[in-house]
Amino acid sequence: MTFDPLIDDLVSANHILCNEGIVDGFGHVSVRHPERPGRFLLSRSLAPAVVGHEDIMEFELDGEPVDARGRRAYLERYIHSEIYRARPDVHAIVHSHSAAIIPYAVTGAALRPIYHMSGFLGAGVPVFEIRDAAGADTDMLIRTPALGKALAGSLGSAAYALMRGHGSVAVGASIKQVVYRAIYAEVNASLQSQASRLGEITFLNEAEAKNAAATNDQVLERPWALWKARVAARNR
Ligand SMILES: [Zn+2]
Repeated sequence: MTFDPLIDDLVSANHILCNEGIVDGFGHVSVRHPERPGRFLLSRSLAPAVVGHEDIMEFELDGEPVDARGRRAYLERYIHSEIYRARPDVHAIVHSHSAAIIPYAVTGAALRPIYHMSGFLGAGVPVFEIRDAAGADTDMLIRTPALGKALAGSLGSAAYALMRGHGSVAVGASIKQVVYRAIYAEVNASLQSQASRLGEITFLNEAEAKNAAATNDQVLERPWALWKARVAARNR
């Protein structure tokens, strides 16, 4: 492939998201193809921590691999294909089942920006209800294009959406931005749950959230360097 630096970043994103507790044996991260916007790159079906260059596959927006070469794809790749189809502004996507956000996906308690690191949540966090799309008898997974399309519909123009009884999806304009969002949404959920036990929470207002998000988007390289260094230290 001719775009190795992007593959490097995608492989790093897999390792970072595991190291930071966002994904474990499950969950995945993708990036839109830099030259063909109708395609995207995603690992074969593997635990993110062990993903390498050779595992990155190319997919069409129908969710089918371009050249599978015997590699098995994730069941839930339609999360990625249908969001890329619906959102031309999105260039990277993380799907995870990280623990702290799950309570917000099942209770109706709104996940809202509790501090400046999570201003990207300020425009609202939709909750996807799979029963609305596919009835009461599913395994909760986004295993068809139709379910992916329904999820993309719930996401709308948001940066982050919850999936009831399942997990979340973060979207961004770049791998670095989406990794940032996946990590800080999880931190926000944890802080919000702690703060809610102490008293009434003063959340960021719309302007504060928007301004903070714009400021942090200018310095995405800094946490990315830290997260990469942590992965390297662990592998040493
Ligand atoms: Zn999932």
